[in-house]
Amino acid sequence: MRPTVATRDRCAACTTALLGRVSFQFQTNGDPVAKCWRCALRHPPMLRRSAGVAVVVGTVLTAINQGDVLLAGQWTGALSWKIPLTYVVPFLVATWGALLNGRMPDRPEG
Ligand SMILES: [Zn+2]
Repeated sequence: MRPTVATRDRCAACTTALLGRVSFQFQTNGDPVAKCWRCALRHPPMLRRSAGVAVVVGTVLTAINQGDVLLAGQWTGALSWKIPLTYVVPFLVATWGALLNGRMPDRPEG
């Protein structure tokens, strides 16, 4: 089944006009919705999906990169920033990928 394209000219969340601006399309349970970049960054389903990716990938990467240190009980201060960053990176990559995938083609104003 071919995905439908959001045809709305206004952001589904804040009603900002989207013509001539960077906008993103998200598939929902109903019709696809178009959002401005500010609302796209806060799109709850995308954030939940990115958080899920971060939990899975971050845990695997933490086990690979820090597993020996953690199992040996040699916790250092550096782990307090290394482990959170290991979760932040896949969150940002998943979010960035979702936004690139949902970017709507530029349409000139008027
Ligand atoms: Zn908006």
